[in-house]
Amino acid sequence: MSEMRLDVVTLFPETIAQALDYSIMARARDAGVAEFSVVNPREWTTDRHRIVDDAPYGGGAGMVLKPEPLVACIEELLGEDEAPVVLMTPQGTPFDQATAHRLANHDRLIVVCGHYEGIDERVRDLVVTDEISIGDYVLTGGELPALVVIDAVVRLLPGAVGNAESPVTDSFSDGLVEHPHYTRPPEFRGLRVPEALTDGDHAAVRRWRRQQSLLRTMRVRPDLLGRAELTDEDRELLAEALDDAQK
Ligand code: SAM
Repeated sequence: MSEMRLDVVTLFPETIAQALDYSIMARARDAGVAEFSVVNPREWTTDRHRIVDDAPYGGGAGMVLKPEPLVACIEELLGEDEAPVVLMTPQGTPFDQATAHRLANHDRLIVVCGHYEGIDERVRDLVVTDEISIGDYVLTGGELPALVVIDAVVRLLPGAVGNAESPVTDSFSDGLVEHPHYTRPPEFRGLRVPEALTDGDHAAVRRWRRQQSLLRTMRVRPDLLGRAELTDEDRELLAEALDDAQK
């Protein structure tokens, strides 16, 4: 059995299905780590014209996704199961690594993509459990946001990523952004790889990486550093780096 079954509800299934056919998603599927299904709520319409949207009550621009096909679709997907039903919406909670970890702990997830003006509010009331935004901007549909969330969640599932990537040391996993990376050659256009990384001293590598991670977080995301739980060693490493910078 797969670690996680992921259902995506979208009016544009091809967009999602194609993207799930590459890289980590395809590898996770082939390894039996995740199982994907992409469904179109249009299949749950009962009228002759298979209508999924309608004009908003009260007037105004745009169309609203009708509640009947969406709710019928999600209820059928759920069956007797309990699973997060995640609506992608710019009004949702901002997505972050902690949310990805929380969602990755479930064995099922249903992700719902809106379109046009959005969905009828009663879908939220009846079946949606979580509302997630990928940022304070408005996209045309929930497909790209859904793929962002699915990628971040699936790569956390055990066995989804090989040794070439590591979700454990990635940025945000410990509340900080990650240290810089280098590979061969040792010198490129006059820029040398830091000695701490080439001396073969594992303790020195660990120290350097932690120090750089702290420094970089301070520079690019001081808000994260303010919230991070720092050890005494972290504070010493940061103080030492700041001292060095002033010399
Ligand atoms: N009228 C809606 C509002 O102001 O909240 C925006 C609708 S938007 C044009 C269409 C759909 O795209 C939304 O229903 C949602 O599924 C998706 N979407 C757009 N921006 C998003 C974001 N930042 N995060 C998550 N989903 C988003």
